[in-house]
Amino acid sequence: MSILKVVHYGDPVLRTPAKEVPKVSSRIQKLVDDLFDTMYEYNGVGLAAPQVGESKRIFVLDCSTDEKPMPQMVFINPVIVKKEGAIVSWEGCLSFPNVFIDVKRYAKITVRAKDAKGRTFTVTPEPGSLLCRAIQHELDHLNGILFIDHLIDRFGTEELLKNNHLPPIDPNRILAEPDLDQVLQCSI
Ligand code: ZN
Repeated sequence: MSILKVVHYGDPVLRTPAKEVPKVSSRIQKLVDDLFDTMYEYNGVGLAAPQVGESKRIFVLDCSTDEKPMPQMVFINPVIVKKEGAIVSWEGCLSFPNVFIDVKRYAKITVRAKDAKGRTFTVTPEPGSLLCRAIQHELDHLNGILFIDHLIDRFGTEELLKNNHLPPIDPNRILAEPDLDQVLQCSI
């Protein structure tokens, strides 16, 4: 059991597309265990391998709340196979301490991935649920995309980053998401 160092916004690993995991080896299983230990230590809901400096396509989630316990979930080489609708999601990120903002997400997704034993599974979380939003947030980390790239309020987000001594928004990274904008009827 190890608690790893979580890298913060500004570290290039967060902008680097992560590599496929060719085999779920014992070394990968150890990394999964360490991701859970680290996530719980910092009271996170999810943690992706690039956030601990490991550029691998792995993330872990535990979306349990006081009212509703949920199983631990491991996603290795995940792929979104279906996505539809749009919602506004209030999110934070362990790589952005104290920054919480509204971002755009799909309302409904279906994801296929491998678990910690290397078995393929498919999950379709309840539309708009924490699990649904958290999967999208963590999967983005594997592609070098960060939640601020989905922002709704550019100037408010800029202010929050500045107040927390984090680097500014890279305007070239803000995603054009016409399918989401159309549903949410918002524009930046
Ligand atoms: Zn994050």
